[in-house]
Amino acid sequence: MKLPDTLAMLRTLVSEPSTSSVAASRDQSNLAVVNHLANWLQSLKFDVDVLPLPNKSGKANLIATLGSGEGGLVLSGHTDTVPCDEKYWDTDPYTLTEIGPVVHGLGCCDMKGFFPIALEAASLFARKTLNKPLTILATSDEESSMAGARQLLRDGRPKADAAIIGEPTGLQPIIAHKGVLALSITLEGAGGHASNPNLGCNALDAMHAVIEDLLVYRQQLAKTHTNSTFEINVPTLNLGCLHAGDSPNRICETAELQIDLRLLPGMENEELVDTIQHRLSQTIASHGTRLSITRINEVPAYQTSEDGELAKTLANLSGRSPGTVAFGTEAPFLQILGMETVVFGPGSIDQAHQPNEYLDLIQLSTARETLEQVIHHYCS
Ligand SMILES: [Zn+2]
Repeated sequence: MKLPDTLAMLRTLVSEPSTSSVAASRDQSNLAVVNHLANWLQSLKFDVDVLPLPNKSGKANLIATLGSGEGGLVLSGHTDTVPCDEKYWDTDPYTLTEIGPVVHGLGCCDMKGFFPIALEAASLFARKTLNKPLTILATSDEESSMAGARQLLRDGRPKADAAIIGEPTGLQPIIAHKGVLALSITLEGAGGHASNPNLGCNALDAMHAVIEDLLVYRQQLAKTHTNSTFEINVPTLNLGCLHAGDSPNRICETAELQIDLRLLPGMENEELVDTIQHRLSQTIASHGTRLSITRINEVPAYQTSEDGELAKTLANLSGRSPGTVAFGTEAPFLQILGMETVVFGPGSIDQAHQPNEYLDLIQLSTARETLEQVIHHYCS
C-alpha cells in the first residue's frame, strides 16, 4: 500500500471523532484514529503495537518502530481532541475544508496535523537501514486526564535519545512549560438553625479564613518564585469555584473551593500540597471544621536545557530560539522515560480549542522538512 498524501491522511483523521473529556457523556474512543495510523505505519514496515489502556475501554496508545537497537528518535502526538460545539463552526468540524492557505477541521491544528507529516517524513526512511530506531508514538486522553501518557510511564516505553512532541508551537522549539495542579478544598462543619451560631459549625466562616490565607500564600509564592522566560513570570493561584451551603436560614454545613495553581519548573506538586494542607489546617484550627484536600488534576512542570542536542538541532533548523509556553503537554512524562524532549510543531495554539480551528499549510510542509532532517540526524 502506498501512503496517502498529507491532506488525504489529515482528512481521514479529522473525520474520525476522538474527543476526550473528563465528562463521561462527551468522552469518545480514539481507536479509529489509532487504527488508521496503525495501517499506514504497517505499510511503511514499522513494527506496530496498539496498546489498549487497562481499565479504560475504547482507548489505546500506539507505539510504532522502524529499525532496532537503543536510542534514536520518537515523534509523538496525541490522538484526541477537545469537544466542539458544532453550531459555532462555519464548516463541518469533521470535514477537512481547505480555504485559501489554511485547512479547517476539529483537531487539525491540535494536533492531528502532526501525524501525516511525521509519517511522510518517516516514509523517506522506510527502505533504508537505520543506525538507530525511529518511533512514532500516538497517545490517548491528552486533553483530559493524560491517561495515555501516564500509562506509558507504567509500561516503561518508549525509550529513545530524544522526542519531539508535535503540539502547535508555530514552529518554535519549546523547552519549558508550567505545571498544573487543580485542588478541591472541602470544609465540613455542622448544620443548625441560623438564629443561634452555637447550634452548629459554619463551614463558610471557615472558608472565608481559608480564602484569605490562600491570597496571602499567592503573594508569597510570587515573591519567592519567578522565571523571566514566562510571559506570566510567577506561579499563579486561581480561585476557580465555590460551592457551599443550601439556605440562608441554616448554618452552612459544607463548603468546597476549587483552585488551580500553575507552577514554575523546579516547583514540586507534592511539596505544595503539603504546604497548603499544613497552613490551612492551622488557619481553621479554631473553627472546628474538618479539612480535606483532594487533587482534581495535575501535570508536572517541564523544562529541558536549551543546550541539549535536540533543542539546539531544532533551533538551528527552524532559525528560532527556544522558548516557553503557557499550556501543558505530555513532555514531562516523556522526560521521565529518559528522553530529551522538545515541543515543536506546525500551527498556532491560538487556533486550538475553538470553533473554526485551522492549520497553516505552509507551516505544515515546513514542519515536514524539519522532521526529515531531524530523523536523518538521529537515525541514519
Ligand atoms: Zn494538543
